Amino acid sequence: MKILIAEDDLTSRKILAGVLRKIGHEVLETVDGLAAWTELQKEGAPKLAILDWMMPGMEGLDVVRKVRSLDLEKPPYIIMLTTRGEKADVIAGLDAGANDYLSKPFDTGELQARVEVGRRMMELQDALVESRKALAYEASHDPLTKLSNRRAILEYLEHEISCAKRSGDIVTAGMCDIDHFKKVNDTLGHQTGDDVLCELAYLLRDHAETRGRAGRMGGEEFLHILRLPPESDFMAEYAALCSRIAATSLKTRSGDILVTVSIGVSRAGEGSSVDGMLGLADAALYRAKALGRNMALYADNRTENAN
Ligand code: GH3
Ligand code: MG
Ligand code: MG
Ligand code: MG
Repeated sequence: MKILIAEDDLTSRKILAGVLRKIGHEVLETVDGLAAWTELQKEGAPKLAILDWMMPGMEGLDVVRKVRSLDLEKPPYIIMLTTRGEKADVIAGLDAGANDYLSKPFDTGELQARVEVGRRMMELQDALVESRKALAYEASHDPLTKLSNRRAILEYLEHEISCAKRSGDIVTAGMCDIDHFKKVNDTLGHQTGDDVLCELAYLLRDHAETRGRAGRMGGEEFLHILRLPPESDFMAEYAALCSRIAATSLKTRSGDILVTVSIGVSRAGEGSSVDGMLGLADAALYRAKALGRNMALYADNRTENAN
């Protein structure tokens, strides 16, 4: 493990570094608090720091305070090194956010044991952060296609609607439904159907690129959101998406398959809400199905109310 030492006393620093290197750690030596603080702010900074209390410039206690004021995903484990054996100082150090302390002159066995505790704590912290990330991913992604799930894509739409109001960009919601998908399942099996969903998800994600996002609403229904500059021909985008999907052979366990999709598109405007946009997009999707499928239709309040 990479360990940072901040200690102005040469002898003490060399002994400390020597012991740590001997038990297999990589040691980064600094001679004052400021240098330690600089190192701890760097990308890939040591996960464990041993800081002397009294140092010229910035004291160890100040370094602890500064590090703890950062909003770090994985904050370092900090051991304070002190000649002051007084309880009040120890309490002040722990209060400021140090994890442990070691009195000078230190016992090498105790040093090793305390560093080992720190290493185990950091391992636990890593595992905790990773599992938290995995949970957050699972909560926001569809397990089959890996696209945003319904909740996440609707949150994204909500965010984009409010951005559109400020920036004047065009924000669209394309409700995209595979045509006659039941037939794929019925003739080639559910697993082949799953392959189709994954391949289609790839095409939708690729089309949205950095301009938006695709998510799975459920079943064979996807929401494809775009944010485009004002005056963009957004329906040309959706028409191109329809054509591209229809022209792309999807690789499945039953061989290459062609499918088409129908898309109902609504656009964010003054007073738009997620529900309102979805309702309009759904109505346009329904019309696209009725008109023969494999097409993208735009929904505005007037057309959908007239239908
Ligand atoms: P339409 O053109 O009117 O949309 O016809 P459709 O057959 O696509 O629509 P329908 O609603 O009748 O059928 C949708 C099918 O999608 C039925 C269901 O079994 C299938 N489906 C839903 N979720 C999944 C899934 O996760 N995997 C697979 N393989 N099929 C799914
Ligand atoms: Mg000192
Ligand atoms: Mg459907
Ligand atoms: Mg369908």
